Amino acid sequence: MAKDRLAGVLERYEAVIGLEIHTELTSLNSKMFCGCPVAFGGEPNTRVCPVCLGMPGALPVPNEAAVEATVLAGLALDCEIARFSQFHRKNYFYPDMPKNYQISQYDLPFCTNGRLDVEVGEGDAAYVTRIGITRIHLEEDTGKMIHVGGAEGRIAGADFSLVDFNRAGTPLIELVTEPDIRTPEEARRFAQTLRTIFLALGISDCSMEEGSMRVDANVSIRPRGASEFGTKAEVKNMNSFKALHDALAYEIVRQADLLDSGGRVVQETRHWDAGAKRTSALRSKEEAHDYRYFPEPDMVPFEFTDEWIESVRAKLPELPAARRDRYVSDLGLPKQDARLIADDVALSRFFEAAVQAAGASRAKPVANWVLGELSAHLNATGAAVDECGVSPAMLAELVVLVDDGVISGKQAKEVFAEMVVTGEMPGAIVERKGMRQVSDEAAIEAAVRKVLDENPAEVSSYRAGKTGLVGWFVGQVMREMRGQANPAVVNEVVRRLLEQ
Ligand SMILES: [Zn+2]
Repeated sequence: MAKDRLAGVLERYEAVIGLEIHTELTSLNSKMFCGCPVAFGGEPNTRVCPVCLGMPGALPVPNEAAVEATVLAGLALDCEIARFSQFHRKNYFYPDMPKNYQISQYDLPFCTNGRLDVEVGEGDAAYVTRIGITRIHLEEDTGKMIHVGGAEGRIAGADFSLVDFNRAGTPLIELVTEPDIRTPEEARRFAQTLRTIFLALGISDCSMEEGSMRVDANVSIRPRGASEFGTKAEVKNMNSFKALHDALAYEIVRQADLLDSGGRVVQETRHWDAGAKRTSALRSKEEAHDYRYFPEPDMVPFEFTDEWIESVRAKLPELPAARRDRYVSDLGLPKQDARLIADDVALSRFFEAAVQAAGASRAKPVANWVLGELSAHLNATGAAVDECGVSPAMLAELVVLVDDGVISGKQAKEVFAEMVVTGEMPGAIVERKGMRQVSDEAAIEAAVRKVLDENPAEVSSYRAGKTGLVGWFVGQVMREMRGQANPAVVNEVVRRLLEQ
């Protein structure tokens, strides 16, 4: 769908979007109410027990680490933490849910009334929008259905269905935003920013591909200037940030077309088909009262003390936004570079270790290497930064060698390529390959004189006013010295001799 189609619609209509984001607490050792391990995939029905299979008489025991992780997420998002809270049973039948109810939270969620400031757009068009967070609650995930036969694993037309309960009972947090989001891009940036925060908290691997982070959206439109909300549709099955953006863009245009042609939007759940790039009706939306919520009778309510909440707050790590601001104010990084590093926990850990080794005054070149050659190397090999063969100490030494004028930037790239393969320290590579850059002024002056002697016409042109030729002379001298000359010294000597 054309981008300008959406822009045209958004001139006449305002979109109102709220997100519901489910995140599995994949970093925990055990499930929500039993001791079964939490992991992705595996042989079906091998990580199960009477509790997560919903056997009669089996009793749930809440996972304290999951409760703490949920409160940690709430504190990171400026939520109010409930002093009194409890689990409810959400009753519905679906074959992937062995108990025929899900243990979830209803009117007493752990966290309410938070917010997240999201930066949208780049450069001059960038702005910050504050998205309210209605609630964050804790629940258990369902199992997984595998539909055999039929089209694309869809239920319709399947020959039979299998169920895998490995995922059943995995701790899951559900975050619901206020309907404060106005464009598909704001929705995408919210989800991306939230992901960087959850990664920094270390509570989940937040993989949209593997389903450990799942984003659903409620979207409606209303004529610009109207105060009443339009009828909303819920969109599901978006398993990438791009899918989230594209599905919302499609849905906004679809609703506008309906209203423009005199039709009306129906409240329903719609399924995003990434292949066909469209949404289609899945089912009419259930209301909360359809679930017959009632308090979970097998568990006592929670009473959090201020002391306990403060002990969780003390575990909050530095969050990406604060880290980015620190890189800008303390280390002088450009905002965009600071964000690219700060958003990635592992990359920022690497960066900070390298800056510590190289010295804070060299933070900028370290950042350039991290975002340049190092990131290219990570992309090319698919390796994680802490097992890519390059240590912070190696990168720091390389930056110092360049900064001290021992090797040129061009030589440094050769050294980087070599150290990735051999694992040697850059200094050792420079020695072994005799790569030391020549800064000796006498040697450089001899080479400059040779170049000037061989090119009298260019020398005359320069002296007649074509001073732009200086770069050409520097290039000739660098070639004469096989790239080993210190460019700053060459530049200075070329200018000096040409002015004589
Ligand atoms: Zn279990």
